[in-house]
Amino acid sequence: MIVAMQENATEEQIDAVIEAMTEAGVNVHRTTGTMQTILAAVGQTAGLDLAKFEMLPGVLHVHRISAPYKLSGRAFRPEGTVVEFANGARIGGEQVAVIAGPCAVENREQIFAIAACVKRAGARFLRGGAFKPRSSPYSFQGHGIPGLQMLHEAAQAHGLATVSEVMEIAQIEPMLPYVDCFQVGARNMQNFNLLRELGQTRKPVLLKRGIAATVEELLLSSEYILSGGNYDVILCERGIRTYETSTRNTMDISAIPVLKKLSHLPVVGDPSHGTGRRDMVAPMAKAALAAGADALLMEIHPNADKAVSDAAQTLYLDQFEKLMGELRLIATAVGRTL
Ligand code: PEP
Ligand code: MN
Repeated sequence: MIVAMQENATEEQIDAVIEAMTEAGVNVHRTTGTMQTILAAVGQTAGLDLAKFEMLPGVLHVHRISAPYKLSGRAFRPEGTVVEFANGARIGGEQVAVIAGPCAVENREQIFAIAACVKRAGARFLRGGAFKPRSSPYSFQGHGIPGLQMLHEAAQAHGLATVSEVMEIAQIEPMLPYVDCFQVGARNMQNFNLLRELGQTRKPVLLKRGIAATVEELLLSSEYILSGGNYDVILCERGIRTYETSTRNTMDISAIPVLKKLSHLPVVGDPSHGTGRRDMVAPMAKAALAAGADALLMEIHPNADKAVSDAAQTLYLDQFEKLMGELRLIATAVGRTL
């Protein structure tokens, strides 16, 4: 159930509605947008008498949410969520954000060279894996916390925000000083215990779509984080597994406008994992931007062919800088900035 308050509702009226909802046995989530406050009820909402809430002072309207996801649905924040970062960057506004970096942090020289390039190209987010979910246990698994320290130092040197993958609950606490945004990888999209725990933090979470997950399952996974009170969730389309073998995954560009329609959460397109092919990253980055993505995530490396992981899909630094120029043209064409 969603209760939309009138624009001029007072704090006392809002508190009274929250109290009435709580008394009815549901959990209340509140969001105050530029126009109005919205209160969402989650939990046992089936027996609620909507008319009872509709009559309370300051209430504009009340309606049931038929979708199984309640807090990630558009109705909770019709104007859209904008996630803000300490370096002043935002994801979800008019400006399209770019998150770039190596698949894995390998050494100081590598991550510092990449950070300088990210800054030069005008992007605000440095991403690098330190805990890597590899298909084979014999592949490089990442440098762990020392890798995050390098990522953080390189980002600090250039005023960038950091993004890195968290694979298990025990990593959350030690990662906190070094990351501005947790990434939950495709393989962990339905690691519900991890999602719940991230809902208890107040750090943004970039949640990737699982390789065989529907849009609805992605939204339900985000709900695990939101229902803990962490509303800073960013959804990521990174390709799904289909019968097509010419690309590593099939990047579902249509999921971007679908998610934007169903949800208020910002959406990121990841053409690197989405295609698995360096030559397909630029066209799919452009397509994602044109389709309404709020951010793009791309893997870059000074010696891309020699990257320890995901080399085949990693852009060289000069390719990335050139692509940023081209993306700016597309951003302008669709009424955004970059
Ligand atoms: C990654 O971002 O490097 C990664 C492993 O991504 P995904 O979870 O989408 O496979
Ligand atoms: Mn990767």
